Amino acid sequence: MSSSSPVVDEANRIAALFDYPAAEVNRGVKEFIREMNEGLEKEGATLSQIPSYVTAVPNGTEKGIYLAVDLGGTNFRVCSVHLHGDSTFSISQSKVAIPRELMVTAHAKELFAFLALQIERFLQTHMADHFTSHVEKRQTGHVTEPYAEEQIFDLGFTFSFPVNQHGINKGTLIRWTKGFDIAEVVGQDVCGLLQEAIDARSLPVRVAALVNDTVGTLMARSYCSPGSTRALIGAIFGTGTNGAYVEKLARVTKMAKIDSERESDTSYDKSTGEMVINVEWGSFDNSLTVLPNTPYDVDLDEHSVNPGIQMFEKRVSGMFLGEILRRVLLAMSRDEGVKLFGGESGANGNGIPADSGLYVRWGIDTSFLSTVKADHSEDLGATKAQIKRELDIDNPSLDDCRAVKVLVHAIGKRAARLSAVALGAVVISTGRLNEGDGIADVGVDGSVVEHYPGFEDYLRAAFREIPEIGEEGEKRIRIGVAKDGSGVGAALGALVARETRGR
Ligand code: ADP
Ligand code: MG
Repeated sequence: MSSSSPVVDEANRIAALFDYPAAEVNRGVKEFIREMNEGLEKEGATLSQIPSYVTAVPNGTEKGIYLAVDLGGTNFRVCSVHLHGDSTFSISQSKVAIPRELMVTAHAKELFAFLALQIERFLQTHMADHFTSHVEKRQTGHVTEPYAEEQIFDLGFTFSFPVNQHGINKGTLIRWTKGFDIAEVVGQDVCGLLQEAIDARSLPVRVAALVNDTVGTLMARSYCSPGSTRALIGAIFGTGTNGAYVEKLARVTKMAKIDSERESDTSYDKSTGEMVINVEWGSFDNSLTVLPNTPYDVDLDEHSVNPGIQMFEKRVSGMFLGEILRRVLLAMSRDEGVKLFGGESGANGNGIPADSGLYVRWGIDTSFLSTVKADHSEDLGATKAQIKRELDIDNPSLDDCRAVKVLVHAIGKRAARLSAVALGAVVISTGRLNEGDGIADVGVDGSVVEHYPGFEDYLRAAFREIPEIGEEGEKRIRIGVAKDGSGVGAALGALVARETRGR
């Protein structure tokens, strides 16, 4: 055993602040279930519990060819998804960067015309037969009657901005995020805007479903999951964190009020007795009644663009984990008794350059945590290399590397155990472990859950500590990565919309 050093001792002390013991997990689960119920009863609750109007999830036998588009941030993706009906699919896709001048413009038409043009190009390239037989004749005026139903492609639209959804293919933009700013679109139905642009080009495409990325993850996993079990939850642990799940329609008591207010323009299929709900769990416990709150969490929140908001996300998602670590490491480097990395740059000369990422907000990417967590070497060579690459610090001592590793472990483990609170609460509140085949199937997506080593093991350890799940129930929670959620998931949204239309 190596003798302890002040820097490792301090790292252990701080790591203990990130402990999130079983009793706290269980307190979290109870509060999460309470907030879920409140969100089902009324609008404006802490958990928004947004109805998706998707009233059925696939079981893998679905067939057909559907289009999907994804407007997320930097790119616009168009794809066609061929569902083979045996839980497998093939996908063709194209991706184009959205020109900056269309993200910030006075005219909504410019952006949506661009999107429709990309859809047309996709049809030309990937569906040439269909394009020449139907579309060109129409565009050149050789055919004037409308498309026959069987010639029309149903399209699922993944739109990763906040929307007020009021139908499976109706949703008004609440506000732009991620650098977009087209004031005209706020308050308008984004599906309608896309449809208008598609119609202006006479394309045989119907915007059939508006699909949140969590709903897409749920749909994609449900189609691909083994056997005929349908998925219960779709969850994202990437830049942000959020989840969607299958709820019993009768429990969504706020639906009655929503239905009566929007009677005229919205109908949906009530025969399945279910509806997919987008929890918007990033804002769980914004009032901090149960969430852990270290001085580093306080510091991060105070310096964020939205203090007091998305408090759960700020402890769990990829956007923030690296930044929590950076704030801890910075404090330790400034602590005279610890002097991580040799202490602050200055008079006594040391290893932290003034322009190190350690001093820059977002200076540590969350992938840093995955690299360090994965380093099991004696000399922590990969950790050392990562510290050099990311923070420009030459030759950190072995104790410095050990300290970093202790903290990476603590921050990642807490994030996973908090994630177990959200997932566990949904599993328990749906009663799925005690119904049907007793399997709760969860589709996950996002770099944190996919790449942070041991994330799933931490989740499972926490599940076992929740009495309503326990050792036995944990084995019946099935977790799988949902690949291509925004393509396959949106296509499946379009399929469900088609199947339930007019029912
Ligand atoms: P998006 O959320 O845009 O769909 P991702 O799921 O890839 O994209 O998540 C991106 C987030 O994950 C970023 O915050 C990034 O810092 C973090 N990240 C990227 N790579 C890794 C990794 N290897 N391990 C953990 N986090 C990662
Ligand atoms: Mg994603």
